[in-house]
Amino acid sequence: MARARDRPVRDRRREAYDRGALRLPRPPAAVLLAAAACLCGVPAAVAGPPPPTEHLPEVTKGELSGWVRALADDDLEGRESGERGADVASEWVAAEFARLGLKPMGEGGGFFQPFTIPRGMKVLPTTSLAVVGADGAEVVLKLAEDFVPLDVSGPGEADAEAVFAGYGISAADLGYDDYAGLDVKGKVVVVLRHAPAHEDKKSPFAPPAVMGRVASFQAKADAAAAAGAAALVVVNDPATCTTKEKDELRPPGGGQGGKLPVVQVAWRAAGRRFSDALGTSLAKRQAQIDGKVMPRSEPLPGVRVRVRCALEADVRRVRNVAGLLVPERPVEVTGEGRPPPAPKETVVVGAHYDHVGRGRFGSLAGAAADGKIHNGADDNASGTAAMLEVAGAVAAARATLSRNVLFLAFSGEELGLLGSKKYVEAPLVPLADTVAMVNLDMVGRLDEKLYVGGTGTSPVWPELVERLNKAQARLTLKMWPGGKAPSDHESFYGRDVPVLFFFTGLHGDYHRPSDDWNTLNYDGHAKVARLAAAVVVELASRADRPTFTKCDAGGFEVGPYLGLSIDPKPGGLVVAHVDDKSPAKKAGVKEGDVLVAWDGAALPDANAFNERLSKGKPGDKLELTVERKGKRLKLPVVLGST
Ligand SMILES: [Zn+2]
Repeated sequence: MARARDRPVRDRRREAYDRGALRLPRPPAAVLLAAAACLCGVPAAVAGPPPPTEHLPEVTKGELSGWVRALADDDLEGRESGERGADVASEWVAAEFARLGLKPMGEGGGFFQPFTIPRGMKVLPTTSLAVVGADGAEVVLKLAEDFVPLDVSGPGEADAEAVFAGYGISAADLGYDDYAGLDVKGKVVVVLRHAPAHEDKKSPFAPPAVMGRVASFQAKADAAAAAGAAALVVVNDPATCTTKEKDELRPPGGGQGGKLPVVQVAWRAAGRRFSDALGTSLAKRQAQIDGKVMPRSEPLPGVRVRVRCALEADVRRVRNVAGLLVPERPVEVTGEGRPPPAPKETVVVGAHYDHVGRGRFGSLAGAAADGKIHNGADDNASGTAAMLEVAGAVAAARATLSRNVLFLAFSGEELGLLGSKKYVEAPLVPLADTVAMVNLDMVGRLDEKLYVGGTGTSPVWPELVERLNKAQARLTLKMWPGGKAPSDHESFYGRDVPVLFFFTGLHGDYHRPSDDWNTLNYDGHAKVARLAAAVVVELASRADRPTFTKCDAGGFEVGPYLGLSIDPKPGGLVVAHVDDKSPAKKAGVKEGDVLVAWDGAALPDANAFNERLSKGKPGDKLELTVERKGKRLKLPVVLGST
């Protein structure tokens, strides 16, 4: 990763734990200074409450980039929930909460709220597979090398007579049933991978539509279970396994378990030995079935298969981080020399700190990114960093607050909002006392506008957000009214808590290994954090409490955006206008260009263009071919979001 030459001062300090010398981030000096300066400026007793956001300390971009750089460092390996990197990140957040004087709200007087997440099935080494031929000779296969339990497998074992059931497909609508007239009850069914003649485009089993429906591992497991089989053995089919790569085995585990033991066997392992033991040539059988696309199933009398899938649910312990900021009002306010009772009402500020690790799940980068670290700088080191800066700013203004502020760093978001779901099931402050929830998820790539979701979940939002934006950030806002969106505020919205969601939009690095710290716009990031801090301070100090209104729709309206309009002419699709700062503009498309192709596919008319665009997703990378002054140019474009 390239390093900027003019790194801010504290980035140099961060090198210490880049090298592993420090476990925890040092207190950010700039925040300490800003907080101290601010507190000194607040008189011990004030006649009336000052405008609440007057004393907000500056949110500095150096602070933010320092946090993002630390959280999105390769050393944290993409912060996958349940892995070391996420645990380290949670330690850092807890340390920062402690430094800011937040009250630990987690288990055992600490900052952590633990919970468990399912990680699929773990394969135990006692998993085994053997075939005993009619002559009594036994062939034992090696786990991981020769066979694996599939992720559609359940735990269990079987020791029973074998039956060969072709491809194991039962597809009444295609007039094809490998199980027709075959008794497999209580037996181990041996089948081939894939589908009859699936590489022949004329075959009714040509991919992709039919393949997934009737020939997936899941479909085969379901068909075997429906026929009453005791276990299923799927052998990589010889017609496909012409190279070692094509003869691959699925990585075991990961699934949520199924009804039967289901194993996959490599052809190189099955081949002769397996065929010999079965007493039938699988290669020959496959050729016969494929020839006429007709089932050729058969019982294998005297042949036994012993299979044991020793699987155990893999459950990981993960944790949310929770710290409460309690207002610190001057004693004189009560007039009785006693501190006022601690407020019950609480504002929640949340951000998830987990990401997708090495892309085992959730990656958009395809097979090429398998195993690569997805650093998640924007998603969501940016939101975590912003939340910490908001905590610092709000802590510095604590003398002006009349409500508590609970800061929550969530785990498990990328697995389906698991951390926030856990929180609303076991809230650390009663939800009835939770006046609002402000969520920061992906706030580091401010381009043209800031999206603010949930503005329809309370009547106070539009005015409040617009007024504070004008005073603090002057950003172009795009408001989304709905409370539903694929991020943590949705969990609170579901419990009738007014929500706000700050988001700077999808982009080409979203859920890809390229979501790195140096792609962020830290000026914009600081503005978003400052606006969020102002919103939180006002929520924690204004007299009235926002009322909740239900508003489901329109909480996340992201469509593909290219930013050009076309004028179809006999000579082709002429670009009539290119929006400023749009993806098309950034790619170098000019007015007067003629659009020729979209990712290599010709664009004969406006319909073709509109169809391609409507099928695109924000963040998609593609190549536009344009004709300019008789020359063809290929322009790489990253689709934006509307
Ligand atoms: Zn994400």
